[in-house]
Amino acid sequence: MKTASCILCGSSDLKNSHHIEFENKNYLYDFCNDCNFTFQNPWPSRDIESIYNDKIYWNSSNVYNNKNEEKKSLNNYANYQNSRFKEAKERYMKIEKFLINKKGSVLEIGCANGIFLNEWKKNGWKCIGVDPARDMIDYGIKNFNLDLKSEKWEQLNLEPNTQDCIYMWGTDGNFYDFHLGFEKINKSLKMNGIYALTYQDFKHPIRKVFKQIKMQHNALYNFSKKSIFFLMDKLGFRILDHSMTWQNTRLSHIKKILGLSTKGIDFSVKVPAVSYNLLIAQKIRNI
Ligand SMILES: [Zn+2]
Repeated sequence: MKTASCILCGSSDLKNSHHIEFENKNYLYDFCNDCNFTFQNPWPSRDIESIYNDKIYWNSSNVYNNKNEEKKSLNNYANYQNSRFKEAKERYMKIEKFLINKKGSVLEIGCANGIFLNEWKKNGWKCIGVDPARDMIDYGIKNFNLDLKSEKWEQLNLEPNTQDCIYMWGTDGNFYDFHLGFEKINKSLKMNGIYALTYQDFKHPIRKVFKQIKMQHNALYNFSKKSIFFLMDKLGFRILDHSMTWQNTRLSHIKKILGLSTKGIDFSVKVPAVSYNLLIAQKIRNI
């Protein structure tokens, strides 16, 4: 059912934003003029989450081995595997500066196969990862010997006030239980604990050129800089750092975004991920 007020700030000043069609279903989005938040309205049924265990989501390929007979696409999860090891190291170094305790408990929400968490493990951290994608989780347990749970963050059984750091990369539009998901982050962190996330600024002017950014039906909501700052304040967080992210990618991926043919020579490139930001915040009060 459609709601008349913004699910983030409660304002009734909403307007139509856009719609996404996926498998003959139409997903409608509203935009809040007060906090600049975009969200699906009506909120979809829970079966939208089945996509995380659908191979389509991981781009008809797999990250596990080459035994799988499925056709590999040019821009799948597996092709970026090596870039992710590099990114994991860079992200760890970036967050480490803000950590009070240099060793402790860290939790990743939407950890996929655990590459990022593995970097923390190497640095002596006690790690927990959670992701609904079963195959990804199995890979991470087997290959990195990590403590990973194949379930949704909202359902994870976790003692409150136990984590020194919680982070999530590319999981900025996926909490089906929106309030519960975010509030649980505050509740699970120790006081002064660090919460880091990447988000796509849906109101960034670059979207006028690259209209397809973040246009996936499983993005239940989209943040802007204004709305993410509003959320952080509401959740009892103080923002320590806000910066643009850099992406280690392939030339073929850039060509795809630009709508060019992905054929020809391909190599690794590092490019600014304009409109994708990394936010680091600190828990300063309980909610
Ligand atoms: Zn709002």
